[in-house]
Amino acid sequence: MGIIEKMRLDGKRGFVTGAARGIGKCTATAFAEAGADVAIVDMDLETAQATAQEIAQATGRKVIALKCDVTDEAQVQAMVDEVVRQLGGLDFCHANAGICINAPADEMTYAQWKKNMDVNLNSVFLTDTIAGRYMLSHGGGSIINTASMSAHIVNVPQPQCAYNASKAGVIQLTKSLAVEWAKRGVRVNSISPGYIGTDLTLSSETLKPLIAQWNAMAPMGRLGKPEELESICVYLAGDTSTFTTGADFGLDGAFTCF
Ligand code: NAD
Repeated sequence: MGIIEKMRLDGKRGFVTGAARGIGKCTATAFAEAGADVAIVDMDLETAQATAQEIAQATGRKVIALKCDVTDEAQVQAMVDEVVRQLGGLDFCHANAGICINAPADEMTYAQWKKNMDVNLNSVFLTDTIAGRYMLSHGGGSIINTASMSAHIVNVPQPQCAYNASKAGVIQLTKSLAVEWAKRGVRVNSISPGYIGTDLTLSSETLKPLIAQWNAMAPMGRLGKPEELESICVYLAGDTSTFTTGADFGLDGAFTCF
């Protein structure tokens, strides 16, 4: 069997959070294109359903949509149970849902800080441990978390201390789980994208005006495309990455190199 065949995900079952649109939609599409059955998990059920239908039609795979607020423990447990029930098991997941609340630290409210931490970091703990518990007792699996280059650098000019801290936490959580579960068949890795053209950036009133400044700082002079994150996620979900755990993959066009 050649390397491309070995990288396929035929017979695997997984879910992606925050998959109604953006990066999550892209990786969910790639997982299905590689042969997996996939659940599109999002708090926006209507868009998730449209996305699931679109991916199912394009790939012929079983693609379901599930409503879930990833900050709610009971909802995450119910979502994982439903994935297992409808897809017949769980081999991989991509904890990807996230938000960005920008405010100068001396003006940021504690409520804003906590909201950012809840959606970007606490939710990853919930998703990883609830999915992980299933995988640990059912032959193993692979977990992918979306961190950010903001885990490694302080982005400018926008003030986003809570976002940066939450994403740094995702990487250290990833490494901690990877070490704890290394001998038990569950691998945990993260991706750290640079600025990517999604609704989070392109449709944000505060971020969109900054794109020209980011591009001026970027070695490649442009934003990344969500499609440019797909292949690493297919690799991490599959069986050619069985020695890869606890790693963070920078996908930022060299933005963090200087
Ligand atoms: P996006 O805003 O386009 O999509 C995010 C999706 O997550 C939406 O469909 C939204 O409904 C869903 N979501 C938000 N809160 C949720 C919750 N509590 N429960 C369930 N679903 C929820 O964003 P994106 O650009 O695709 O970003 C995806 C991930 O990538 C985020 O974690 C983000 O921090 C990270 N990231 C993005 C960029 C970028 O430049 N776009 C760069 C680095 C990292």
